[in-house]
Amino acid sequence: MIAAVFHGPGEMEVTEVERPGIGPDEILVRVGANTLCGTDVRVLNGEKTRGIRRPSILGHEIAGHVAKIGPRVKGFEVGTPVGMAPMIPCRRCFYCQHDMENVCPNKQGMGYDLDGGMGEYVRIPASGVRRATSSPQRTCRPNTSRWRSRSRAASTASAA
Ligand SMILES: [Zn+2]
Ligand SMILES: [Zn+2]
Repeated sequence: MIAAVFHGPGEMEVTEVERPGIGPDEILVRVGANTLCGTDVRVLNGEKTRGIRRPSILGHEIAGHVAKIGPRVKGFEVGTPVGMAPMIPCRRCFYCQHDMENVCPNKQGMGYDLDGGMGEYVRIPASGVRRATSSPQRTCRPNTSRWRSRSRAASTASAA
């Protein structure tokens, strides 16, 4: 598959990498959209280095369609539109058992501990995946004609 691989500050390469395999509790998602977060920019600029592997695939704001399902995963089918959590809590520790998954000391970050969404496919523990209400391929297609009319309006306004 094609992915944008982060090698270090200022070094990102779009290249062919092996499509990830999945474990029994994981899902392989064909990425439909991966938005760029300010954190990704900080990593690329070398401002955030803690917990960043090299090489790795960044991207933690991901939506797409299920491509493959681990044998222990229930509730998904190939083709299901999904979104996913940027952090995957363990769901076993004290914090997870008391609705404080955000401070789970064992949580895994998409794009950090696990490779992220800047590739054609991403592997993710099923506990971090949720069924989407509509197809991300449909809702994420940018309406460029609106951008054009908006920039025209802006230039008309500045000329006036
Ligand atoms: Zn983010
Ligand atoms: Zn936990």
